[in-house]
Amino acid sequence: MTDDQSRLRELPAVDRLLQEPALEHVLQRMPRSIVLQAVRETITRYRNLLLSQHCGEESTYKVDLSPDILAGEAASLAEKRAGSNLKPVINATGVVIHTNLGRAPLARAATEALTAVASGYSNLELSLDSGKRGSRQDHLEALLCLLTGAEAALVVNNNAAAVFLALYATTRDREVVVSRGQLVEIGGSFRIPEIMAAGGARLVEVGTTNKTYLRDYEAVINDNTAALLKVHTSNYHMIGFTAEVQTAELASLAHRHNLILIEDLGSGVLIDLEKFSLPAEPLVQESIAAGADLVTFSGDKMLGGPQAGIIAGRKDLVAAIRANQLARTVRVDKFTIAALEATLRLYFDEAEARDQIPVWRMISLAKEKISERAQRLIERLAPHFGKAQVGMSEGVSRVGGGALPMAELPTCLVHVHLERWGLSSEKILEKLRRGDPPVIVRLQHDTLFLDLRTVFEEQDEALAGALIKTITDGKGER
Ligand SMILES: *Cc1c(COP(=O)(O)O)cnc(C)c1O
Repeated sequence: MTDDQSRLRELPAVDRLLQEPALEHVLQRMPRSIVLQAVRETITRYRNLLLSQHCGEESTYKVDLSPDILAGEAASLAEKRAGSNLKPVINATGVVIHTNLGRAPLARAATEALTAVASGYSNLELSLDSGKRGSRQDHLEALLCLLTGAEAALVVNNNAAAVFLALYATTRDREVVVSRGQLVEIGGSFRIPEIMAAGGARLVEVGTTNKTYLRDYEAVINDNTAALLKVHTSNYHMIGFTAEVQTAELASLAHRHNLILIEDLGSGVLIDLEKFSLPAEPLVQESIAAGADLVTFSGDKMLGGPQAGIIAGRKDLVAAIRANQLARTVRVDKFTIAALEATLRLYFDEAEARDQIPVWRMISLAKEKISERAQRLIERLAPHFGKAQVGMSEGVSRVGGGALPMAELPTCLVHVHLERWGLSSEKILEKLRRGDPPVIVRLQHDTLFLDLRTVFEEQDEALAGALIKTITDGKGER
């Protein structure tokens, strides 16, 4: 018998592991099936480890097969499975619209509306005036029209779906003209050329990467052209020798040739950003006023609402999109409608939107206010970390979420030096991530940076607690 085979025999059996105190303990608290599954997976993992050692893939250190070690691992796997996967985290990165962290946190009014609708019945598709069947879109359309100046509006699952559906319903099998400078990829697999291909439109690229003129569009228009498409390059910024055609000019060119202009704005900004000393972003209402026939944007970027894609524009076009078979496949649910309606209502008063919608509140948070909270956090941490290890530094927060790539919001960062703790910085990040509540931070050169701009003030204490726990629990651990 070879050495490897004999080691495989040393692997403890399922029943043996279940007698270990660690597993007896979890068995009292969670379904047996979850625990059994975790035990089997752990044994399989160790078996594979031994086998891979045999193949020389791993270094040949001797794997510890003690039952208590395997049982401990199986117990933590079971704990993980039985606990919830999706949970709130503290975002101390300073990136306001963080796609990995769920983009826009909702305003209180939105969560209240959502909860009320979620836990009972609602008039989702019933007109309370007539008692007849209504459309779920009725709850949002009038509001969107008021805020954007559009004749009609439709809400779908997300903006990718909005762009796809708008193109599919209005330009299928025909040509759509786009500037080469706007053939963007917006994270993941959302690429304008591919979305257009999937939507059945034939892409006609015009201009060059850095410059596109009106005459470039004009030159390719023919009998088979259906639309001009303008895409907001929301996640990058070109500087230097550049030229882009404005919405109003494109709209009048399109209309002279009986074409439509579709504008994908991405972020969906309804408040003038220059008031926040931020670079100007096109406003939805400006695009509509400039003559765009259909405008699409996200619900959960700068709008600060739930995930959704909004299509606003000409009545006949929106009606055609709504009537399209595929509209049903990207239909929004009642939670989205409730949260979006409540969010949109806040925009009737700009000051209220700024104060109540977390994205706007965070963006407009003054550096002095962040600095006061940072100071309090430092005082709280200093006794545990050592005075010299924590401090404040200047930095910048980002809007994120494929919005305002150039915008830098001046902020105060709390920094924590890590060398002293005998733990690698990766390990500390991991402990913070896996803590309760999980904390997501920035790390640079073995220093943690915390930006309180994106931490809700009521989370400051939990954040301090999580940091202290990570370090004090971590002492002596490798
Ligand atoms: C973010 C973005 C999209 C995709 O929006 P989702 O709501 O994430 O589907 C499409 N176009 C532009 C220009 C964007 O910025």
